[in-house]
Amino acid sequence: MPKKIALITGISGQDGAYLAKFLIKKNYQVIGLERRSARSTNWRLEKLNIADKVIIEDVDIKEINNLIRLFSKYKISEIYNLAAQSFVQSSFYNPIETAQVNAIGVLNILEIIRNQNRKIKLYQASTSEMFGKHDKSYQNEKTLFHPRSPYASAKAFAHYTVQNYRESFGLHAVSGILFNHESPLRGEEFITRKITLGLAKIFLNKKKTLKVGNIYARRDWGFAEDYVEAMWMMLQAKKPDDYVIATGKSYSVKQFINECVRSLNLKTKWVGKGLNEKLINIKSKKILISIDKRFFRPSEVDNLKGDYSKAKRILKWKPKTSFSKLVKMMIDSDLKFVKKLYQ
Ligand code: NDP
Ligand code: GDP
Repeated sequence: MPKKIALITGISGQDGAYLAKFLIKKNYQVIGLERRSARSTNWRLEKLNIADKVIIEDVDIKEINNLIRLFSKYKISEIYNLAAQSFVQSSFYNPIETAQVNAIGVLNILEIIRNQNRKIKLYQASTSEMFGKHDKSYQNEKTLFHPRSPYASAKAFAHYTVQNYRESFGLHAVSGILFNHESPLRGEEFITRKITLGLAKIFLNKKKTLKVGNIYARRDWGFAEDYVEAMWMMLQAKKPDDYVIATGKSYSVKQFINECVRSLNLKTKWVGKGLNEKLINIKSKKILISIDKRFFRPSEVDNLKGDYSKAKRILKWKPKTSFSKLVKMMIDSDLKFVKKLYQ
């Protein structure tokens, strides 16, 4: 039997790499979309030893004609639309590019499925950022959206459009509302990786102080490799539907830092308040972490904690990796990474 073909947009990103690895194990032929760049963007696929197992096509999802050509070239069964301008902070500086990729990108794909082959299944990468300013202790599929950034507004457009094409044209198109998920492959601009990489450099005397923004924001952080399995499960379900994927636990950025410090066996203490709050190494008296206004956002999402009971009930999905295991995995990986960088 010929292999099923899965197309992953955003294959050079964190989730794209883990999903490609997962689908290859399931015996799919994986086609990955990458936009051309002067720098090699394949490092994650190489790290997972799968760079030579995927076919890479040079396509920007803003270019509908290139997408149309691609759909004629391959007999695609499943599409995972992971491509996005995915950094919330950047979306405040590049709102139009963010909307073109995160909102219109998925509309391009939906239009091609609608016109060419309605049997193709689509997974859309929705996000807990859409809940934004909510008043619920847990957020689930019924919680109202209140986006707090151009990133979240564009993702909300994509989410509702997927829902509308499913209802209007009978497509098997679904959105996974994924809460933050991290890994050693996470981009260095996101807070978890920024902290693990920054503290690993400080620990190895390659950096003095790490500057961060709002340490009281709380997130529900899971492990990316657990989450890509849920994407696949959603497309295998009989009935197309949207699901929250989360751990059900929430920690502040400060708690994430404290867990890293524990993992590194450092003795530290927090001193000061507001913009003057600092993390000090008790023995050396050095400032490890300080607060910098530049990293605050014009409007913040204060607290996210997901209720994944629908995914547990229907898909039989649940997270496998604890918060402390995730932190340790990222710290250990960054200690190795920094040692190699400076050897
Ligand atoms: P990454 O930032 O690691 O990856 C994003 C990918 O999108 C990269 O491969 C990037 O390519 C690609 N991309 C960006 N613009 C375009 C474009 N115009 N055309 C084609 N490709 C493009 O994100 P993650 O892997 O962490 O996230 C995957 C998806 O899940 C994203 O849509 C994100 O918004 C969403 N999401 C992520 C969460 C998380 O916590 N990780 C939480 C909820 C949702 P390049 O390498 O060229 O930049
Ligand atoms: P997001 O939830 O998609 O925005 O993921 P991020 O990892 O970028 O940010 C998570 C939270 O950490 C947000 O509430 C940020 O305001 C907060 N945060 C605090 N300091 C920083 C920082 O220096 N960089 C980033 N990226 N986020 C920070």
